[in-house]
Amino acid sequence: MNFNLLMQILVALGLGIKRNWHIFSGIVLGIICGILLHTFNTPYNNSIMQCLVFVGQVFLRLIQMVVIPLVVSAIIIGVTSIGDNRQLGKFGKKMIIYYGIITSVAVLIGGLLALFFKPGLGAAQYITANAALSAQEMVRNAMAEQGNVLHLILGFIPQNPFKCFADGNMVSIIVFVLIFAIALAKVGDINRPIVSFFESVFAATMKITDWIMLFAAPGVFALTASVIASFGIEIFEIISKYLLVLAIGFLIMLFVVYPIFLKVFSKVSAAVLYSAVAEALMVAFGTASSSATLPLTIACCEKRGISHKIASFVLPLGATLNFDGTALLQMVAVIFLAQAYGIILTPVLLVKIGILTIVASSTCAGIPGAGLITIALVLNGMGLSPEQLVAGFAFLFTLERLTDMMRTLVNVASDTVVVAAIADNENEINYDLLNNPDKIEEKEI
Ligand code: ASP
Repeated sequence: MNFNLLMQILVALGLGIKRNWHIFSGIVLGIICGILLHTFNTPYNNSIMQCLVFVGQVFLRLIQMVVIPLVVSAIIIGVTSIGDNRQLGKFGKKMIIYYGIITSVAVLIGGLLALFFKPGLGAAQYITANAALSAQEMVRNAMAEQGNVLHLILGFIPQNPFKCFADGNMVSIIVFVLIFAIALAKVGDINRPIVSFFESVFAATMKITDWIMLFAAPGVFALTASVIASFGIEIFEIISKYLLVLAIGFLIMLFVVYPIFLKVFSKVSAAVLYSAVAEALMVAFGTASSSATLPLTIACCEKRGISHKIASFVLPLGATLNFDGTALLQMVAVIFLAQAYGIILTPVLLVKIGILTIVASSTCAGIPGAGLITIALVLNGMGLSPEQLVAGFAFLFTLERLTDMMRTLVNVASDTVVVAAIADNENEINYDLLNNPDKIEEKEI
């Protein structure tokens, strides 16, 4: 890739971080504090950990609190403002194609890297010895529940919309709200009271998001510190090859694939986009949840000139359907286990794994850990014995949170890349705002 472009991206990211230096400091201090806590065993460690977990959970719960009202109002406003069916179909098709392209590329890159570096060779013994016992029961349940694609798809159709709202089941919520919003768009002017109601809901939830973000730095600090403290850094040495392959894959997505994608499909510069959404990327890393980050992702995009019409339609669907980082991780993880247990990866098996990975990643939810549950879909039918499956899967759980933070950052980055490309194609982007961050800083949304 072009060196100049890389430098531009780094400089822009630096500027993005500078604007959000408090959140970035939260991440850095969180890593340092986590390492210290793990290294020095003092009588206070337990209490400090409890405090960290508490503060982290307060932040996480606060942002989760606004997700459902935000998603519902954003989709209803988005779909009814797009209005006519043909335009909606055009957007929808383009969105699915773009999401499909980048997720397939993520799977391809994950597969190539795992086949090239072979991180799983010789790992079998280590996997058996280190598979978290506590995770094994959960794994058995997940395998039973997630092993069947038809069962999974059926689960997306809500029998009772109120129950899916109460359970916070995002995919079912989106299915229901999309159908409801399209129906509202069809009934014409009679929809005005409901649409105005949701416009008010949207404005208020965005305001609440602004308030919650005042708490982002301590929240991200506490979340990062508690994760690092519970893992320690030895884990990096032991499974460094697996983590290295993942890290290389994620970097390729961020610094090669997305910039090329944006160049091919739009006039948006990756450097400018990353700088615009740096705050959302950092929160994605801290919370490991694309859904929880969604209010902020929408806010960042709209502040920098992406129209409300596009952002409010494309981003909620992205946070529910588009998980490139997860797809890449699932591909690497499955090949890692196959290599560890000596499964021969024929081209046919690889293609099957690739296709299943695309399905598994897009059926995942934007919450911490979801990607590792849906991986069961890919692992079933790989030819692993039940014991190997349980041990392998439970081993992946031990690294879960750490890899989740990285892949969620990539998931959110890819949502913003697609929304920027669609906004550009539809002339729904204000380049003046996008390219001049200083002008926007004070702009209220
Ligand atoms: N935590 C990820 C996300 O929210 C999903 C996953 O578990 O891979 O995007």
